[in-house]
Amino acid sequence: MSNLELIPCPLCGNHSDFESLNLNYKDEHIANYGSLYAGKQKSEWKICSQCGFVHQNPRPSKEDLNQFYLNSSYHSNKIPQSYFLENGKHYVDFARWYYLDKIQYAITNANLKDSGKVFDIGAGHGGVLKVFYQDLGWQVYGVEPDKHLFDYATNYLGITSIQNTILDSNTEIGEQVDLVFSNHAFEHFADLDQVMLGIKKILKPGGYVFTAIPTYYQNRSDLSLQWMNSSHYSIFTDKSLNQLFSKYGFEEVTHTYRGWNKEIDDLWHLAKFTGASIEPNSFHENYSKVKDYINITNPINSVINYPIYSNYAKRIVTINIFKRRLHFLKRNLKLLFTSPKLAIANIKEKLFNKS
Ligand SMILES: [Zn+2]
Repeated sequence: MSNLELIPCPLCGNHSDFESLNLNYKDEHIANYGSLYAGKQKSEWKICSQCGFVHQNPRPSKEDLNQFYLNSSYHSNKIPQSYFLENGKHYVDFARWYYLDKIQYAITNANLKDSGKVFDIGAGHGGVLKVFYQDLGWQVYGVEPDKHLFDYATNYLGITSIQNTILDSNTEIGEQVDLVFSNHAFEHFADLDQVMLGIKKILKPGGYVFTAIPTYYQNRSDLSLQWMNSSHYSIFTDKSLNQLFSKYGFEEVTHTYRGWNKEIDDLWHLAKFTGASIEPNSFHENYSKVKDYINITNPINSVINYPIYSNYAKRIVTINIFKRRLHFLKRNLKLLFTSPKLAIANIKEKLFNKS
């Protein structure tokens, strides 16, 4: 038996009248969840008839899901070997390539010119905070529930101000930050209200929240539909994110669906904590329009974009490793003619000293 429960809409609290989504994709993550989805082949997704929010329903309880992340069960592939190359420099270079555009978007639109304090929700391997700290001189804080990722960020990258937990109203960092950063995290939060209470607690009045999330809203390919799987609980648009944020006194500064070319179907959003009371109802979306929108994907985009963007970042890591090996080989082949002893020593070290 699975441990799934029907829930009210996580945004507007509506208890009935949900439109089911029929998604014909393999759910790649469901096996990781063990008994939580026992007997199920895929997760179920609904559109709320009152506010148009696309969310997983029924689903495991908030407590079970939080515990799942705290048990370090989500990331089946713990730390890639390449993250240990060159004492972590290889990973930090990758993180800079991957995150710096988003970081610049957040701090430019928030007008945070001087270095400040940033908190990363779901800090992962620590790449975002390493770039903020090392390149931009910010003070960094964060939470990461997965012990393996937390250990890498803390012990290997030396970011000791991350806590191995989930953000909620009990989180204490002894500071208030200028910016809360979250990259592909909001779709994983089992308890959105506790996260928002946690954000309000650690953020300065007038502070900013940057959110990058996968979305179906621009439907550049079928990839957006595959994000409706067991590892995600919400798929936001700018409107549904504003509905959530307005409940806690945040106002949108700006958003874009065309932030960069390194990922597809991605929403970037920046909000400011102003304390304004904006009616969350004003961000409701028409559920039948949402349904139409989800079911119309551009097949040409899917055929062209999906192979380009699917696992793009992972492929870049692989290509970089290949380039470095090629460079090593070229260098030592040349050396064979001039200093064969040195070339052989280099090759021996490469083969037998894997660190
Ligand atoms: Zn709703």
